[in-house]
Amino acid sequence: MVSSLRYNVIKMIERDNQITNTKAENQDDQLDLTLRPQTLSEYVGQEDVKMNLEVAMEAAKKRKEPIEHVLLYGPPGLGKTTLAYIIAREMGVNIKITSGPAIEKQGDLASILTNLQPNDVLFIDEIHRLKTHIEEILYSAMEDYALDIIIGKGPAARSMRLDLPKFTLIGATTKVGSLSSPLRDRFGHIYKLDFYQDDEIQQIVKRSARLLDVNIDDAGTAEIAKSARRTPRVANRLLKRIRDFATVENYDKIDLSFTKKCLKTMGVDTLGLDKTDRQILLTIIQKFNGGPVGVNAIAAATAEETETIEDLYEPYLLQIGFLDRTKQGRVVTENAYYHLEMGYPENKRQEQKNLF
Ligand code: ADP
Repeated sequence: MVSSLRYNVIKMIERDNQITNTKAENQDDQLDLTLRPQTLSEYVGQEDVKMNLEVAMEAAKKRKEPIEHVLLYGPPGLGKTTLAYIIAREMGVNIKITSGPAIEKQGDLASILTNLQPNDVLFIDEIHRLKTHIEEILYSAMEDYALDIIIGKGPAARSMRLDLPKFTLIGATTKVGSLSSPLRDRFGHIYKLDFYQDDEIQQIVKRSARLLDVNIDDAGTAEIAKSARRTPRVANRLLKRIRDFATVENYDKIDLSFTKKCLKTMGVDTLGLDKTDRQILLTIIQKFNGGPVGVNAIAAATAEETETIEDLYEPYLLQIGFLDRTKQGRVVTENAYYHLEMGYPENKRQEQKNLF
């Protein structure tokens, strides 16, 4: 009886897995493989994270075990997915890619887990968006390499435990604070990815230009780096758009003036702010008297999603000191007024003092 039940569960899981695999592959297709560094030595910056991972991987290889589960957090585009691929590659194992919102049913996760090979990496992007009942089955999977699932409903329901191969879960999140502590505590390594330094972004632009066969001089490279929000994904995106302009205009050597012209056409200013950044700042200034104002009100007034503002725009505006987060809400700083070529109201100066 139990063995036929087990057989049915495994069949059900295998069928579900075909669906999940397709999802994972489609997502994978969308990844920008050309520019993604393949090894830790090609991965620019984040020196502390790299050093710790190198030690962890070396030790795990010596023990012939997978490395402990890894949690990577930080704003989008800083290289979390890239690191997950590198870890799998350097450990010589497969990687399966999925994301919190893509796992809708317990069966989805069960099918992914039961199809892992020993020591494989399972990468869950946006892990903070896992549903609670799914997160709960991850606990025993992470800790005991076992899957506790409940079959059936009501009085006929029974629980069963399936053994899993040892594996490494790599979770990525832009919101580490939204992770429950039982989940966070099950990661052996927790690393924060920081915004990159200017010279690191320059290195990334140079490397990408080489891979894309783009002829760009040092001044052009530096200008892209300045406008890239200290984020590799943005740097690569700007480079690719400028390359398009160069192709269309038959420009064979990209220099400073061409780069500046392209950035201006794209609506990106000298600090990398785009139309939406400026709209967010202007909305707070003009509609909310410079703040403090809650992020939901900003979202409503700018017709952006709250999540988009929190994940994509706000981290960089906070980082360059154009926004402050106070208990009462977001406040535009004096520097942001100057950048937008607006005078800073005298009464705000006094208000700011009282706020902090
Ligand atoms: P995240 O998962 O944090 O959103 P990704 O790993 O997808 O970010 O990185 C976005 C892109 O930026 C990658 O395709 C890669 O080309 C580039 N990239 C990210 N980090 C680095 C790095 N440290 N060095 C070089 N390129 C990087």
